[in-house]
Amino acid sequence: MTETDSARLLIIGPPGAGKGTQASRIAERYDVPAISTGDIFRANIKGGTELGKQVQQIIESGELVPDSLTNEIVADRLAQEDAARGFLLDGYPRTVDQVHALDGMLDGRSLDAVILLEADTDAVVARLMKRAELEGRADDTEEVIRHRQEVYAEQTAPLVELFSKRGILVSVDGLGTVEEVADRISDGLDAKLGLGTEVGANAKAGR
Ligand code: AMP
Repeated sequence: MTETDSARLLIIGPPGAGKGTQASRIAERYDVPAISTGDIFRANIKGGTELGKQVQQIIESGELVPDSLTNEIVADRLAQEDAARGFLLDGYPRTVDQVHALDGMLDGRSLDAVILLEADTDAVVARLMKRAELEGRADDTEEVIRHRQEVYAEQTAPLVELFSKRGILVSVDGLGTVEEVADRISDGLDAKLGLGTEVGANAKAGR
């Protein structure tokens, strides 16, 4: 890709499917910032900001932060200079309303691809419970973890069909090692973006 090209990407999938890990790799490969609404919220909670105070309870309960607030935060972030040439959104949009808000922010410049990281509910619940134990996240009880999966199934899963209809969906099996999944994503994205050539070859050769 040249300097003027851009990749506007999203990664979507159930909580615990490994989106964050893959997002940083994809962002590096396509040279765009990874923008995670979950990370933005967590940083604000940690920093004790007004926003952090507003969202802490909601996040701990496994519910979604209201669309209006989330949309505002993303609009601010996308307006920053580093996002002008492209971005990888992780964890946003999560509702149909957020998709429409994002369409408005992009002002006719459509998304290039949406990566769906597929994962089985029981497998991701097991993974998240292990992580909660290892990282001492006492708030991440099985109940909250399961609730987040339900919220995903109800509010976010319908977005998959919407992006599929737009012809930009790249579905990837999220089961396997980080490397295996990363390779599947790269292959799927290169094919969707029509980058079978330079970027794909360069990235594979480590250039
Ligand atoms: P994540 O790290 O993406 O799983 O996000 C952690 C939590 O932040 C979620 O369980 C939600 O409570 C909140 N959150 C993150 N992104 C969004 C979003 N796009 N809309 C509403 N809430 C969000």
